[in-house]
Amino acid sequence: MPQVHRFEWRGLTGLVLRVLDDEHHILGELIEGPLPASEAGRAIRMSGSCCFVQTPNERVMIDAGLDADLVSRGLAAEGLDPDHVDLVVVTHGDQDHVRGLIRASGEVTFPNAWHVIHEDLWAAWVDGRELPRVPKERFVAALSPRIRCVHGGRCPAHGICVVDAPGHRLGHLAVEIATDGAPFLHVGDALLHPAFVRLADRRIPGEDDPGLAAATRRALLQRAATRGALVAASHFPFPGLGQIETPGGGFVWSPRPLLAD
Ligand SMILES: [Zn+2]
Repeated sequence: MPQVHRFEWRGLTGLVLRVLDDEHHILGELIEGPLPASEAGRAIRMSGSCCFVQTPNERVMIDAGLDADLVSRGLAAEGLDPDHVDLVVVTHGDQDHVRGLIRASGEVTFPNAWHVIHEDLWAAWVDGRELPRVPKERFVAALSPRIRCVHGGRCPAHGICVVDAPGHRLGHLAVEIATDGAPFLHVGDALLHPAFVRLADRRIPGEDDPGLAAATRRALLQRAATRGALVAASHFPFPGLGQIETPGGGFVWSPRPLLAD
């Protein structure tokens, strides 16, 4: 059973489902170039989650984790049925975000949902190029009838829009959900850890295009700060919800668990 965190934000209700065991890294080993000694040896903890959001009109999953059964059990524990999900937004194609889209039987986990995916990522999947450690043919065949290809700026449902967030992986998308005030902004893996909020411009060699990923980080942080958004990030320490503040001009992560009753 995954750990589930309930939250509320300006008329939205949501769940963050913890789908991976935490990973531990040394900050200096993830970032290119020198860091102050106090930072370089710092141990950081990364979690892994996917997210469910209930808007006034739609039930939305953002990614599906590594295991369909695990995600389904987490939803069921909160009285939710995967059959009732209307929309699944795929932030990118890494297996810890997409394997849970398909059950071990080969059936889709969310059979009544449109699956929103960047058109470049879907084209790569269909060509067999970008689907590491995922059974490609079965995966593409199962999802094909339920796919809606998009690019940044498209809004696949009322108030739910995707934002191009390139650099980390091919076709990476962020998701912004409107409210009557500040939006909810899920950044996927465009921000991997709170340390990279403060160090937004530094290159992370493990990303597909580290320079482009750094530019995307800065753009998303600015967007979040300007709009006062509630930010969700897949690998921030669980539950990975917070806001971006800009004291003195730099970006600072401010956790906001926003527990619902
Ligand atoms: Zn990831």
